Amino acid sequence: MPILKRTNIAIDLGTANTLIFKEGEGVVLNSPSVIALRSDRGRIEVVALGKAAESMLGKTPANISAIRPLKDGVIADFKATELMLTGFIKEVTGGRWLRSAPNILICVPVQATQVERRAIKEAAQSAGAKAVALIDEPVAAAFGANLDIDEPKGSMVVDIGGGTTEIGILSLGGLVYSSSLKVAGNVLDDAIINFIRRDRGILIGERQAERIKLTVGSVHPGASSSSMNIKGLEAASGLPRNQVVSTEDVYNATVEPVNAILRAVSSALEAAPPDISSDVLRDGMVLTGGGALLHGLPQRISEFTGVPCRAADDPLDCVVMGGGKILSEMKMKNFQKVSER
Ligand code: ADP
Ligand code: MG
Repeated sequence: MPILKRTNIAIDLGTANTLIFKEGEGVVLNSPSVIALRSDRGRIEVVALGKAAESMLGKTPANISAIRPLKDGVIADFKATELMLTGFIKEVTGGRWLRSAPNILICVPVQATQVERRAIKEAAQSAGAKAVALIDEPVAAAFGANLDIDEPKGSMVVDIGGGTTEIGILSLGGLVYSSSLKVAGNVLDDAIINFIRRDRGILIGERQAERIKLTVGSVHPGASSSSMNIKGLEAASGLPRNQVVSTEDVYNATVEPVNAILRAVSSALEAAPPDISSDVLRDGMVLTGGGALLHGLPQRISEFTGVPCRAADDPLDCVVMGGGKILSEMKMKNFQKVSER
């Protein structure tokens, strides 16, 4: 019988983006976590995945739905998640995976319940995995950010994604403290939508709100200001109107959710055992995930907590890169053992 080399892959199944790391190759997929499905007399068919599906969000006819199957880091729609995972895995293994089904390591939010963990595993298994292992996201993020977490020394990572902010304090390769809050990129976008509606009487959508955040947004009160023109519908008349949105507007709109993140970071520092937190107070914390790129956030966190804070290099890739590193250190035996848990 020919010996088949089994493919090992690590997946960062994020609320906003899914990334896949293939052993020996690196990051081979980076796509929005979106799928478009057509239902025809009870039959469900995949119309588009990733970027193509994302461009259909909010613009589909009655028989097609473009959806984000994950919400707040957990599976909101099981069937859609399974179909999306299957599609992505096929893309990176060239569809030949039926003969040599991959071992899959999936990074999951720390607060995911046993039921949710099982759902993620089952989705991967139905997507064709040979064995599935799960790893806590902050551990993967810290590995991917190149923190030396295997030392007997405290280190801290804050991963701010689309749906959740995950905080981890680690030592000797494991979590000493972790917490998670459902305040992250999407909540900031919603806050911008609400602000523009309340303050300007104009309705905008999620994608426009995100664009405002990325273009002129800052969460630091002292940031240099810029502004941009946006188009939206006037709530009162329903007519299109132009409007200028500035850096201060975004700052004011997002004060509350940003404060929630600041308070969670402070609580984590207070909750960690003193010997570990003193390492963190000295060496600082690292931000990962797309939220690490929020203008002014590292500075804001370090001013609020008095602890040094910096964004990781390539923060959007940290979780999957860490997953990839863990994958290469995992022996097959461990894979089986972990997957049986
Ligand atoms: P997830 O792990 O939930 O899939 P990601 O780590 O991929 O999330 O981050 C996605 C979030 O990061 C989105 O809310 C997006 O708006 C935000 N984001 C991405 N790039 C930037 C940026 N340059 N500035 C601010 N926020 C960003
Ligand atoms: Mg993430």
